[in-house]
This record gives sequence, C-alpha cells and structure tokens, in this order.
Amino acid sequence: MATPAIHPDYAPEGFDQVVEPLRRRLVSYVLPVYNEQDGIREFHRRLAAATATRPDLEFEFVYVNDGSRDRSLEVLEEIAESCPEARVLDLSRNFGHQMAITAGLDDARGDAVIVMDTDLQDPPEVSMELITAWEAGAQIAYGQRRTRKDTAMKRLTAHAYYRILHRFAEIDIPVDTGDFRLMDRASTDVLRAHRERNRFVRGLVASLGFQQVAVPFDRDERVAGSTNYPLPKMLRLAADGVTSFSTVPLKIITRLGLMTTALALLGILYALVMRVFLPEVSVPGWTLLMIMVLFLGGVQMLSLGVIGAYVGRIYTEVQARPLYSVQRVVGRGHARPDAGTTAP
Ligand code: UDP
Ligand code: MG
Repeated sequence: MATPAIHPDYAPEGFDQVVEPLRRRLVSYVLPVYNEQDGIREFHRRLAAATATRPDLEFEFVYVNDGSRDRSLEVLEEIAESCPEARVLDLSRNFGHQMAITAGLDDARGDAVIVMDTDLQDPPEVSMELITAWEAGAQIAYGQRRTRKDTAMKRLTAHAYYRILHRFAEIDIPVDTGDFRLMDRASTDVLRAHRERNRFVRGLVASLGFQQVAVPFDRDERVAGSTNYPLPKMLRLAADGVTSFSTVPLKIITRLGLMTTALALLGILYALVMRVFLPEVSVPGWTLLMIMVLFLGGVQMLSLGVIGAYVGRIYTEVQARPLYSVQRVVGRGHARPDAGTTAP
C-alpha cells in the first residue's frame, strides 16, 4: 500500500485531491478460526466474491488459527497460497475467541478493520453494508441480529444474557450484538491500547465512544461443524462481561453489610429491652451473647463491604485502560503530528 510521503497535516492545499485517487483504502478482515475445516473454504469463497464487488478498495484477510485441533491450518495454508490478500496467524495454542480477535486486530493494517466469525453465521455480504456505513461517516458499525438461526436454548440464553448485561453493566452495551463489526483506524488503535486479560471485546468497543451505528442483519446457521461455545465457555464469557464492566456485585456486599448492621442494632436494642423490662423471661447470659453475635456479624459484613470498595478500585486500576481517547483534533496549532492516537 502506497502511503503519502508527506504527513497529511503538513501537506499543501489540494494535496489530498492529488493523492487520494492513487491510494485505494485498505479494509482488513480479522477472521478467528477454531476447528472449521469443513466450512472455511466455502467461507473464503463467499468472502472473496463479496469483496470482489468493490474493486475501488483494497482488502486483506487475516485468518487467526486459534489452535485448531482439526485440519483447519492446512486448509488455511492452501487459501493463503492461492489468495495473495490472505495471511494466516497461527497461534501456539487455543487462546479463545476473544484473544484470537485481539491477535488479529494487532496484526491488521487497514484503514478499517472488520471482525467476523468464519462459520458463515455472519454473512460476508453484510460486511459490505458495514463498509457502506463506514463510508457514510460511521467510525464503528456493528452488526445487530434481527433474527438468529440457533437452537432454542442458545436463543433463549443469549436473549436473557444481553438484557441482564444491559442492566448491570455501567456502560451501554447494545443488545443482540456480537463481535461482527467494522472499526475505523482511530477506534481500532484505541481498542488495541486496552490490554486487560479477561477480555470482553464487544463491551470494550461499546465503552470507546466514537460514532457508532447499528446495521441490522439476519444471522444464519453454521455451515459446518458445531459451535465452539459450549455452555461452560459461554458462562465464562458471560461472567467476563459482567465483571469487566460492573462492580455491582461488590456494591451488593456493601449494601448487605449496611443492612445487617442496621438489623443487628435493632436486635441489640431488643435484647437490652428484654433484659431491663422482662428480666424473668430472658435466660441468664442471653443478652450478652446476642449483643456480641449481632455486633460482630454487622461489623464483619460492613468490613467486607469496605474491603470490597477498595478491591473494586484496585480492579479498575489494574485493568489499566486508557484514561481517555481523543476522537479528532481541530486546528493545527502546535499539536504533534500523531496527536489524537493512542496506539500502544
Ligand atoms: N473461535 C475461536 N476460538 C475459540 C472458539 C471459537 O477462534 O476458542 C471462533 C470460531 O471459529 C468462529 C467464532 O470464533 O469463527 C465463533 O465461534 P462459534 O461459531 O463456535 O460461536 P457461536 O456462533 O456458536 O456463538
Ligand atoms: Mg458461530
């Protein structure tokens, strides 16, 4: 890809008009693959056909082989051999879907980057609509499922999960949205600056800001193989989603602590009243015992809550997310040529 020799910020008037037609914009695809030997060839054929409709753009296909145990890697090598735009990152073991996406995002060089599944559940044709949305000014365009052809169980759990997450998380994560999306260079660089280990990529993207638009689509069936997200993996992803974006569970402990302490005080009062006004009913030693048990219980719960508050802060600190991200700098002044980017 030819990059202009002069940084656009310092280019003379009209430089854009001269250079832009020469340089086709590059769109990268990040394609995580785990045990997809039977479907991947068909996927690549459909993707190549879809992207061929836009000769005015350049494309690159970054396949990330996430430690597949079947023949996926061999098939991918064949694809890379016959298709000059394709390359394969072969991870040393299975790191999981979210890490595979991250590896691909780090490798992609495009002006826009599209992440999609390689089982044809995200139709390649829809990715062309994401590109149209990008060209119309969106910085992030995400596929939002209008319908999905999955098992009833998967549909039900997914439906419930997205709504629970929506309630709990401290940011607005759009419902029925997976990892099928396009991001422009600026937002991709900001996402790449997030290096936390327990990653819930779609939540991170939602928290970035930028101009985001939803592109509705109908999610298809898997062409071959079976889901690589069995229930335990799905639960883990779900837990990552909630704990990455919410300290609500910790706050619940604090509330519980306050409630127990209040109840303990009432209990203590009751024990004292009984001791003073109805001494003949109370068993000897009962008052002291009640006071001690209730007092300790309340104090312990409250202490847990206080510790929880600090743990919550430590947690957000160790995530070490970028503190802010600049979307655009207006006016030149003395800004550094690379101001506004937060690439790692
Ligand atoms: N995948 C991956 N690593 C994994 C599991 C899945 O790279 O450990 C890929 C998989 O090849 C597919 C995408 O992630 O392209 C989504 O996985 P899957 O279709 O199994 O999930 P589902 O659509 O059932 O939620
Ligand atoms: Mg799938």
